[in-house]
Amino acid sequence: MTEKRIKDADVYVIIEELEKLYPGAKAELNYTTPFELLIATILSAQCTDIRVNLVTAELYKEHNTPDKIVELGNQGLINYIRSCGLYKSKAKNIIETSKIIMRDFEGEVPEKLDELVSLPGVGRKTANVVMSNAFGTPAIAVDTHVQRVSNRIGLANSKDVLKTEKQLMDILPREKWTLTHHMLIHHGRRVCKARKPECDICTIAKLCSFFNTKE
Ligand code: SF4
Repeated sequence: MTEKRIKDADVYVIIEELEKLYPGAKAELNYTTPFELLIATILSAQCTDIRVNLVTAELYKEHNTPDKIVELGNQGLINYIRSCGLYKSKAKNIIETSKIIMRDFEGEVPEKLDELVSLPGVGRKTANVVMSNAFGTPAIAVDTHVQRVSNRIGLANSKDVLKTEKQLMDILPREKWTLTHHMLIHHGRRVCKARKPECDICTIAKLCSFFNTKE
């Protein structure tokens, strides 16, 4: 955790550098509709995107809409998603969410944050992922990578993910929220890893609070 946040001017340099490293960074989950993204994001809790993509590639061949998921039923769904962690609670939430989408939202995934978080298994992070990627609403979903990397760099300085989200929204230009979310995830997976950040090859080290404090 860094003690203080970096200067506004440095934020732009960091975004530019991340854009060079990860041009066109986007979600690594595969989907073709908002519903597919919603379900994939629910499945991604404590599961890798690679695993989720394998699971949904099979599941979505025949079951990629709320009515088809409800028709599949709890046990049928479990048979597809068993290799993802927490599959029992995920199956329950996905079935319930599908029923609510059919009953209350005419079969379409809702676009608003308060509506999304009212769905079982959908927290603020999942809602932000769906809003920003499926509907183009700028948002910053703070997952474990965004939390860690943004605090190391000094874009945020909070252990609380909601505060981190607010600080990032405050310090980043709105049009860069979604892109920066993806770039921080990419950087967290490839360079700024949890146990051992590879600061010696990191091209934003000079501006990074963690690196400069360490030095
Ligand atoms: S310098 Fe180190 S801690 Fe800072 S962003 Fe790069 S890898 Fe992460």
